[in-house]
Amino acid sequence: MSNKKTIEAIIAPPPPHMVGDGFRVHNFFPGAEIDKRRMSPFFMLDYGSKIEFTPSIEPRGVGVHPHAGFETVSIAYHGKIAHHDSAGNSGIIGEGDVQWMTAGSGLLHKEYHEENFSKTGGLFQMVQLWVNLPAKDKKTTPKYQEVTNKMMGRHYLADKESFIEVIAGEYNGTKGPATTFTPMQVYNAKLKKGSKATLGFPANYNTGLLVIEGTAKLNGSEVATDHFVLFNNEGEEIEIEATEDTIILVLSGEPINEPIAAYGPFVMNTWAEVEEAIESVSKGKFGVLE
Ligand code: MN
Repeated sequence: MSNKKTIEAIIAPPPPHMVGDGFRVHNFFPGAEIDKRRMSPFFMLDYGSKIEFTPSIEPRGVGVHPHAGFETVSIAYHGKIAHHDSAGNSGIIGEGDVQWMTAGSGLLHKEYHEENFSKTGGLFQMVQLWVNLPAKDKKTTPKYQEVTNKMMGRHYLADKESFIEVIAGEYNGTKGPATTFTPMQVYNAKLKKGSKATLGFPANYNTGLLVIEGTAKLNGSEVATDHFVLFNNEGEEIEIEATEDTIILVLSGEPINEPIAAYGPFVMNTWAEVEEAIESVSKGKFGVLE
């Protein structure tokens, strides 16, 4: 009997929308096809497919806004993102880098194209992933993990050129630097044409793969660029066969089986907690940011 995971759906990129004036994203979830629980612990996936930005003196982006109750994970594939928050932190997410921000008890921040990238313009491609926190950690102190590309684990495959880049979790003994509150695996599979990789995750882990670059066969099904593949919760193995040079974002995690009350930038367990978060923002408890 095959132990391969079967595919529940191959989803084409939904029509994009703008987040502020700097992020043109396809929202794969939560939505009609993948509801707010289906990919738990991953709550939201916004994918900024490749776009050329013209030069701009004023950096494009999204202004001051709060977050609470979860983590935002920003992955830059092309272009650079700058951020500032109400605790006085700021930084730049460079090409190939990841920022893993734990909003936890709450903060205010803003996200923009990095100044020099903005001036020159150019190719931009990114992912923003929201990772839910379990009830016991919802109010954890906000923190950042700046995960540069160099810090990531690299597990080379048979051809010695293709590799699994481990952001969080572990692949065949190679660990990722990001720490998480619940068990999960977050990788970039970077495979040359013709190369193969086998991934294994427990059957109950919610698992989805996003093809960022090129094309690949996933357990035998051809998947085009910018498409998201949702797997059924049965079987453990996924075989990737690169039919072109490919980059695939791999998400797999143990579901958090708790109630979700989500409103705008807040992902809590109850509506009372959502109201409390809104009130905290209006009372300035998340700090101040201009
Ligand atoms: Mn944000």
